[in-house]
Amino acid sequence: MKTIEQADFKGKKVLVRCDFNVPLKNGTITDDTRIRECMPTIRKLLSDGAAVILMSHLGRPAGTGYEAEYSLSPVAKHLEKLLELPVVFPGDAFTEATENAAKALQPGQVMLLENLRFIKGETKGDENFARYLASLGDTYVNDAFGAAHRSHSSTAVIASFFPQSKYFGLLMAHEIENLEKLLHHAEHPFTAVIGGAKVSSKIDVLKNLADKVDNLIIGGGMAYTFVKATGGSVGNSLVEDDKLDTAREILEEFKKKGVRLLLPSDTVCADRFDNDAQRKTVPTDAIPDGWMGMDIGKDSIAACQEVLNESRSVLWNGPLGVFEMENFSNGTLQIGRCIGKVTERGGYTAVGGGDSVAAVNRLGLTQGISYISTGGGAMLEYLEGKKLPGVEAIG
Ligand code: AMP
Repeated sequence: MKTIEQADFKGKKVLVRCDFNVPLKNGTITDDTRIRECMPTIRKLLSDGAAVILMSHLGRPAGTGYEAEYSLSPVAKHLEKLLELPVVFPGDAFTEATENAAKALQPGQVMLLENLRFIKGETKGDENFARYLASLGDTYVNDAFGAAHRSHSSTAVIASFFPQSKYFGLLMAHEIENLEKLLHHAEHPFTAVIGGAKVSSKIDVLKNLADKVDNLIIGGGMAYTFVKATGGSVGNSLVEDDKLDTAREILEEFKKKGVRLLLPSDTVCADRFDNDAQRKTVPTDAIPDGWMGMDIGKDSIAACQEVLNESRSVLWNGPLGVFEMENFSNGTLQIGRCIGKVTERGGYTAVGGGDSVAAVNRLGLTQGISYISTGGGAMLEYLEGKKLPGVEAIG
């Protein structure tokens, strides 16, 4: 893997694709994690004596030019605080002002381009836009793992203009190293904990994990499709009726591979989708009509703990219940704590994909995890065994 650690960028003008797609409320950044994660790469380049041109997308503008709502201006201001340096921000939608500012940029200076998605070609992987961006610098670094599953002008196509001078940033390299470790060099017993709302979004992940893990724990809304597929009554729980055959195939596949599979034996259910709903715990295959499964029950938690206690590697994707509602967050909290203990015992634990990181943050579980991925969709696709365009482009 060609990372920026292996080179000296003194005197270079380096274009860095970052993922600064941060949440904003009334123009204020509410969580700057993604910006902070890119700091090591930016600092390394600056300390080498490079001029650094940062680029990112933010949200989903129409692609027809500048839109104030989607401007990266708050990010530019925040970067100035974090770096304690002025940040050149032309704030135009890729006109002469951008080109002139890039030309004038000196070693040790930082510049941020406007939202790449102001230009329609970006998300289409337009070669002309990639060529335009490439003309602004002499070296390309991709540090945007969160956008690595997109074949866009700035994430993949641009790399072809830098055959000898393209590199992975430090965040991107860290993500790939961890995912490779998980998928190809995990210490056994290896347990996957897969939850979240829908089976449909996890089918390919489950299939790819079948010959890698020793244990599979299924929880969350997706568990009820599996329970129904095996003849259980799941009341009004979330079910994907068009995925019942797929669920049976997946169960068969895991059985064939000798993987120990745990579906929740008991479920905390509610009479409506509300934190204040009436609730009771019942066997997962006997949920009464009018009730819906919202969280895994105590017996299920105990069974999961037994498996996790003897695991050396854990991959966790997706909450075990509706963790956003306090009354249904216990299963996710307990399993998260138990995963934390695997880390404490010297095991290796990883969380990511979809909304998993939100659950870990909200329940205060981040300290106990060895590796938390910054890439929701990108991590899921990596776990599915797919090649990510942003990774392939650097090679
Ligand atoms: P994902 O993005 O696929 O990981 O799904 C996360 C979402 O799944 C969260 O918003 C949870 O509230 C939701 N979820 C987890 N368990 C259930 C459940 N039993 N019923 C409905 N939604 C659930």
